Amino acid sequence: MTAVAGVRRVALYLGSASGNSPEYRDITVEVVRQLAAAGCEMVYGGGSVGLMGVAADAALEAGMPVHGVITRALMDGETGHTGLTSLEIVESMTERKDRMASLADAMVALPGGIGTLEEFFEVWTAQVLGIHRKPVALVDVDDYWSPLTAMVDQMVDRGFFAAQHRDALIRVSDPALLPAALDQWVPAAAKWGR
Ligand code: AMP
Repeated sequence: MTAVAGVRRVALYLGSASGNSPEYRDITVEVVRQLAAAGCEMVYGGGSVGLMGVAADAALEAGMPVHGVITRALMDGETGHTGLTSLEIVESMTERKDRMASLADAMVALPGGIGTLEEFFEVWTAQVLGIHRKPVALVDVDDYWSPLTAMVDQMVDRGFFAAQHRDALIRVSDPALLPAALDQWVPAAAKWGR
């Protein structure tokens, strides 16, 4: 299969835990397999714990190049993965996020905790502001993200967020649809018209 046009490297944001259902591991492996089949490379936080480790192992097994970016302080806690194509060690969380986002052509969040949410909202808000023009996607399983998307709908309903920016967020629950959704994404106008 040919590479997804324009989307070569995909940053994955996902839990440093695995959740309490096998569904979370399964969707992670499936997302990685779909991206590998589309010729993509993976960028992620460089750890070997939780869904982060599941994704990295699945990618390496599929022959997909994997680039990790981790802080020196987290090398122990999140156990920096030693088998990656490349592992960059940076000094701060800010540097880590910036590096991951600049390496990637697209960003995808899978189930995770507050670190995942923080990373997801940073890149999504940057998209809304026109700081970058890269697709951002949320992969749902087991209605994990339903409370979040309901909150975003409420922001739109109550006049705090534009529907066009909500609609620019890619939401998929079938990983097979992800590569094409990233590839076909069209940016909305930036919030302040940049
Ligand atoms: P979590 O979703 O909380 O399990 O964390 C997932 C990933 O996000 C892990 O690699 C965390 O180190 C990372 N993370 C947690 N907090 C932050 C933060 N403030 N900035 C950047 N990454 C973070």
